Amino acid sequence: MTDQFALIYSSRFSDYSYGECHPFKVDRYRLTYELMQQYQLLTPSHVKQVECPVASEEMLRDFHRQDYLDTLKSFSLDDDVHANFFYGLGDIENPVFKGLYDWSRLMCGGTIEAVRQVVEEGCRASFSMAGGWHHAHSARASGFSYLNDAVVAIAQLLKQGKRVVYVDIDAHHGDGVQQAFYDNDQVLTVSIHENGKDFYPYSGFVDEVGTGQGYGYSVNIPLVPHSDDLIFEQAFTRMILPLIQGFAPDVLVTQMGADPLRTDPLTRLECTTAFMEYAGRGFLETGIPWVAIGGGGYDRLNVARAWTLLWSTMIGVPVADEIPAPFKKTMLSLDEPCDWLRDPPHMAAPDDFSRAQQSLDKNISIIERQIFPLLNLSARG
Ligand SMILES: [Zn+2]
Repeated sequence: MTDQFALIYSSRFSDYSYGECHPFKVDRYRLTYELMQQYQLLTPSHVKQVECPVASEEMLRDFHRQDYLDTLKSFSLDDDVHANFFYGLGDIENPVFKGLYDWSRLMCGGTIEAVRQVVEEGCRASFSMAGGWHHAHSARASGFSYLNDAVVAIAQLLKQGKRVVYVDIDAHHGDGVQQAFYDNDQVLTVSIHENGKDFYPYSGFVDEVGTGQGYGYSVNIPLVPHSDDLIFEQAFTRMILPLIQGFAPDVLVTQMGADPLRTDPLTRLECTTAFMEYAGRGFLETGIPWVAIGGGGYDRLNVARAWTLLWSTMIGVPVADEIPAPFKKTMLSLDEPCDWLRDPPHMAAPDDFSRAQQSLDKNISIIERQIFPLLNLSARG
């Protein structure tokens, strides 16, 4: 393993649009890249930028069904109105637009390349910011996701006989990835997210633990609304890190959605950017070859700040808190003024914190009883 770090990027990431009123804004990628650039995070000698390739159809078929791929491809040929609700395509959530198929393949190619940089080029870690489409199923688009980059990339690792831990810190349950490997003991999936009782995708409960060979290799840590940094950090230390260490994978893949941040418009968690730095440090310090991928985040300024901090943590180059002047100007022109990279410290209200702590303790004790013995782990209290 070298001490190189790879960032997978393409200016084409921001070329398309889900539509004016859709919460997913593709210019989040361009803004993140610009902020990293202005903090001089792309020029150190131990950093390499890799142009994002397009995923081959052959690799997509390792997970996605041919009839779904054919439909997605044909709907992407023009700007006419297309819909097939059986495949989850063409509704308000998952609009179809000209070029969608190639754009989704590009995002997917980024994660495959990020894995390749770590496994074949010996990079210490890599970041595929345009990955993280964790809701896509084999033959169904869901939750703004069309092609499941993590599943396709992990499938390539499995072919090479590698064992993988996938950790998903997005505010939403990583349902598509969990389902893909639900009966597989070579991939341990761990998702921490806002409780699916009344929240998309309505899954990710603590009793979803895998099936058959995969029994015990799916772990879910649902959190009640208003869980804050302190709750996330405890879950990270008491559950996520021991699980990674217990499974001892060849490669660690982490989905780094920025929507647990308290100012995200679609979620009710109360994290700050401090958690993104905390998680980044924790993953890096495992010493396991690490592939970070993007994910949700519906406030583009949050996404740019959180992933700039993640990248700075990953490559070990500290950044000042005051945002560089040109980026301030860009955000001002978008009517979203900003001054600081990091959020101020925040704690949930006492009643909310107490509810969150009780729920976390309960879930941790269930996982410790049910899953830890299978991985030869003992409870740490
Ligand atoms: Zn999300």
